[in-house]
Formats: sequence, structure tokens, C-alpha cells
Amino acid sequence: MIEITGLNKWYGDFHVLRDIDLTVAQGERIVICGPSGSGKSTLIRCINHLEAHQEGRIVVNGVAMTQDVKRIEQIRRNVGMVFQHFNLFPHLTVLDNCCIAQTWVQKKPRRGAEATAMEFLERVQIADQVHKYPGQLSGGQQQRVAIARALCMQPEVMLFDEPTSALDPEMIKEVLDVMIELAREGMTMLCVTHEMGFAKTVADRVIFMDQGQIIEQAPPERFFNHPESERTQLFLSQIL
Ligand code: ATP
Ligand code: MG
Repeated sequence: MIEITGLNKWYGDFHVLRDIDLTVAQGERIVICGPSGSGKSTLIRCINHLEAHQEGRIVVNGVAMTQDVKRIEQIRRNVGMVFQHFNLFPHLTVLDNCCIAQTWVQKKPRRGAEATAMEFLERVQIADQVHKYPGQLSGGQQQRVAIARALCMQPEVMLFDEPTSALDPEMIKEVLDVMIELAREGMTMLCVTHEMGFAKTVADRVIFMDQGQIIEQAPPERFFNHPESERTQLFLSQIL
């Protein structure tokens, strides 16, 4: 589903991603963790070209990334993304947030777009709030709308960048529950998160990054109980 080989990226002189090789199979659920500044967000943002890379190859669902706009659009159609700060359109209602890309990008008629939106908004249990604006919702509700909005595009893979880290503790669970449900349904997922309970429950593989490199990757049982690298051990001792 995703094949990354020899990925290197610089911000000016700063070498932010170093020789990243990462393959994600269809239906696989990956959790990425690591210290602040280790390049986790940059890595997943490269997958849908929110960031450009300088070296290496990224292939998503058989489509190789180039600078070509058509190619990038083709890849983005397959990739849903959920951000830490929700990034909903503040001036659009919940329903319109979920319809706009369907009508503009997929050229769906409004009626069909609304039906799809309602289906996913029901799944994230927010169908009763569809005429509200994002500012009238709690953080957990906004994040569930953001997940529904991404799902409306029928993506092949979902990328999550710390989806719960801006939320109050009591709202974290409602978002994680939606993500766990999605994982159970077989969605291919790449999640940057420090929710280690989530990693233990749903991840097929946990990846630890430090200073722009993948230091270690293993199934959760091995990752948490027998981490090999000292850097992983230190990181886990600080967060667990
Ligand atoms: P966090 O856990 O804090 O979200 P992260 O692992 O997601 O961290 P990134 O956001 O990928 O880390 O950033 C990696 C490094 O690249 C950091 O040192 C950051 O300061 C730097 N960086 C990120 N974006 C830019 C940018 N647009 N220009 C220059 N440097 C950047
Ligand atoms: Mg980040």
C-alpha cells in the first residue's frame, strides 16, 4: 500500500529525514512514536506531499510520487489525513465540512455527498450535530468530524498525526474508540501517537523514530517488553 525507500529530506541545511525505508501492507496498522522533533510529522506529511522530499521514492497504492500535480492529486485521493488541531473549515457547518471535497474534488452531486457524509457522521456518532459550526463543538467532537470528513473520500489509507494530543483527557477515549473501530474494520492506518494503550490494542507494528531515523520497529509485544535499542528503552522509560 505504501512503499518508502531511501527517503531523505532537508529543511535548508537541516537533515530532517535520514534514509527512511518503510513498507506498509494493505490493512496494516502502524503506530509511530518518538521524541519531539524526531521527524514523525514530516515523515507522514511526505506521504501525501504536504511536504516535498529531496531523495528517495514514495509509492502509494501503486502510484509513484513525482512533482506532477496530477500524480499528487491521484495519491491524495487515496490518502485521508487527520491532524492534531482538527483543521476543520471554521466557516462551514459539520455537514458542509464533510461534503465540500466530495462535491469539488470528486464532483459528486450534493445529494449523494450528503448521504455519504451522514453515513460517516453517524458512524462517529455525531449525526445530531451536523448543522453546527466547528467552533460550537468540543475538541473530541471536532476530531470525530475530521475523521468522518476524511472517510467521506473513501481513502485506501488513513494518516493520523497526534489526533488526541490537543484533547482534554475525557475526550481522548471517544476519539480513540473511533480509531479502534476503524482499525477493526481493516483500514490501513499510520498513526503518530503517544497513546501506548492504543498501540498495544491495535498496532501490528510500532515504529520508533529519533533524529530523523527509524531506530526500531517491532510488533507491540516485543516493542514494549523487549526493546532492543537503548534509545527506545530510554524513550519508553520516560513515557510509560
Ligand atoms: P513533535 O512530536 O513535536 O510533533 P515531530 O517528530 O513531529 O515532533 P517534525 O515536526 O517532523 O517532528 O519536525 C522535525 C524537525 O524538523 C524539528 O526539528 C523541526 O523543528 C524541524 N522542522 C519542522 N518543520 C520545519 C519547517 N517547515 N522548516 C524548518 N524546520 C522544520
Ligand atoms: Mg509532530
